[in-house]
Amino acid sequence: MTQQPTTKTAKATKTAKAPKPAVACLCGCGETTRGGTFLPGHDARMAGNAARLYAENGDDSAIKALPTDALRSKAIGMAGRLRMQAQAKATREAAKAERQQAKAQAKSTKAGKPSEVPPAILEIEPVKVGRWTYPARQVVSGGNTETQRNERRDGSGNWIPVS
Ligand SMILES: [Zn+2]
Repeated sequence: MTQQPTTKTAKATKTAKAPKPAVACLCGCGETTRGGTFLPGHDARMAGNAARLYAENGDDSAIKALPTDALRSKAIGMAGRLRMQAQAKATREAAKAERQQAKAQAKSTKAGKPSEVPPAILEIEPVKVGRWTYPARQVVSGGNTETQRNERRDGSGNWIPVS
C-alpha cells in the first residue's frame, strides 16, 4: 500500500510534463510538427508552392523563405519546368485559337458565298387577296423563282410566298 501514492505522483508529474514544444510546420499549413521543421512531405509542398509563385509572378520571396539550399534549388528547378510547361500550353492554346479563327473564317466565307450573288428581284403586278391588292415580286435565286407578296398593302410588311 505504500506504492500507490508514489505511482499516482509519478503519473501526475508525467501528465503535467506531457506537452512537448510545439513547432508550427514551416509550410504554413497551421499544423504543428513533433519538433521538426516540417510535417512529412510538407517541405516538398512548400517548395512546390514557392516554385509556382516564382514561375507565375517572378516572385522569389517564397523561394528565399525556404529553409535549406536543397529546397531552394529544388524549387528553382521546379519553377523552370513550370515555366516551360506554361509556355508550351500557351503556344498550344495560341495555335488552337488560330485554327478556330481560321475555321470560323472559312465558315463565314462559305456561308457568305450565296449572298455574293444577290437574288434578283422583279416587281410584278400586285396580287389580289380577297378585296385587297398587295405588292408582289418575283425573287430569282439560284435558278428558282418564287413569287412573293407583301403582307401589308403599303409594302412595309414581310414578304410571304404566294402559293
Ligand atoms: Zn505543413
